Amino acid sequence: EKRNPGQDEFVQAVREVSQDIFSWIQDKREYHEAEILRRIAEPDQIISFRVCWEDDDHNIRVERGWRVQNNNAIGPYKGGLRFHPSVTESVLKFLAFEQTFKNSLTGLPLGGGKGGSNFNPHGKSDREVMRFCQSFMTELYRHIGPNVDVPAGDIGVGSREIGYLFGQYKRLTNRWEGVLTGKANEYGGSPMRVEATGYGAVHFLEHVLKRKNEGIEGKSVIISGAGNVALHAAEKLIDLGAKVLTLSDSDGFVHDPDGIDEEKLDWIKTLKIQKRGRISEYAEEYSGVEFHEDGEPWGVDADIAMPCATQNEIGKDEAKQLVENDVLAVVEGANMPTTAEAVEVLREAKVTLAPGKAANAGGVAVSGLEMSQNSERISWQREKLEDMLANLMEDIHDKCVEHGDTENDHVDYVKGANIAGFKKVADAMLAFGVM
Ligand code: NDP
Repeated sequence: EKRNPGQDEFVQAVREVSQDIFSWIQDKREYHEAEILRRIAEPDQIISFRVCWEDDDHNIRVERGWRVQNNNAIGPYKGGLRFHPSVTESVLKFLAFEQTFKNSLTGLPLGGGKGGSNFNPHGKSDREVMRFCQSFMTELYRHIGPNVDVPAGDIGVGSREIGYLFGQYKRLTNRWEGVLTGKANEYGGSPMRVEATGYGAVHFLEHVLKRKNEGIEGKSVIISGAGNVALHAAEKLIDLGAKVLTLSDSDGFVHDPDGIDEEKLDWIKTLKIQKRGRISEYAEEYSGVEFHEDGEPWGVDADIAMPCATQNEIGKDEAKQLVENDVLAVVEGANMPTTAEAVEVLREAKVTLAPGKAANAGGVAVSGLEMSQNSERISWQREKLEDMLANLMEDIHDKCVEHGDTENDHVDYVKGANIAGFKKVADAMLAFGVM
């Protein structure tokens, strides 16, 4: 805390990982002596820059941009860009720190980074978003490269923004290279990248349930968010026969007691992705659907909870509510959506908690595969990538089980993910000597 004053999210993330790692490294002197944990918790470098852009009324606007390059021991820095008014250096440091372990868990050669801006894309015209992205890349381009740092999307950065960013990179450097992932298929994107995080989280859930001799079919699921992760998690769940009861955005949540089916989800996708509308409009379109303003869906009775919006959306009280409702598992599609206190409540009640760094790693894994395809100048078929994603998620799940203090069939997935993710990065750093 003293080293990072005012950076609550970052301190929270480092504390959570440290607690699990401390007990595991107690008898491993080499990690202590080389101060590995402290070194991973100090980003390699943080680039902070001014982003000026002109709005449609010709006013000059000034925002702040960052890239946090946390650790490149096992591969080039890799992690998304977030455009949201809540973005601060602390938020990006926590995300880059978490990303380091997540990327390690994928088994692919990817280091950890994260970036973004406090720019708020809501209510901006396409041209305004384009001008902002071009200005952002005008500074960022000198710090990234296909073997240096490969950003992707995150909250507020989808395929539209990636297109504008990539176009500007190409213009500035005169190079076509795989410097960003999440590109559209027409210009080097990978099939399955858009779906990968949400689908991957559901694959992870499948393995969690399999250990409990249960399946997804017939399970009721509450989901928060209505963005890339939430909508694709919902899509896969519906496909596998689950009943999706809720979705949300920053205005509140919708509860559909009949369950959101394929046709309704298509309607929501058009609303959110093409029309950039609000989730409340779903309750106006379909009868029997309730909209709860400013609320979160965690009180709705269900078998599974999947937070897929943002950090710290499940606090202590919400966790208690989930325990009371006998939720079988909480699977994090978002990064750190569960507060430290809430994690403790779930741990004590032995509710399975699949942490984001494991459960939502499918996105970055397919991003890693997009990088491979770009390097080789080839494009793989969707079916091949679907199989690869499913196998990667099974592998990540099994690594968590291996290190997750598995007792009486209860797995501490949080601990398992932290230790398995840490080990690979730590061993690489040891190999490089003390620097
Ligand atoms: P999107 O921008 O596509 O969607 C985010 C959703 O969450 C929107 O519905 C948004 O509502 C809601 N939301 C965002 N911030 C808040 C907030 N402060 N309070 C309430 N609701 C909020 O983002 P993604 O789906 O890509 O990302 C969601 C989460 O998943 C993030 O934690 C991200 O880091 C994580 N993640 C994403 C990956 C990816 O591949 N995209 C990969 C791994 C993790 P509104 O529209 O009203 O803002």
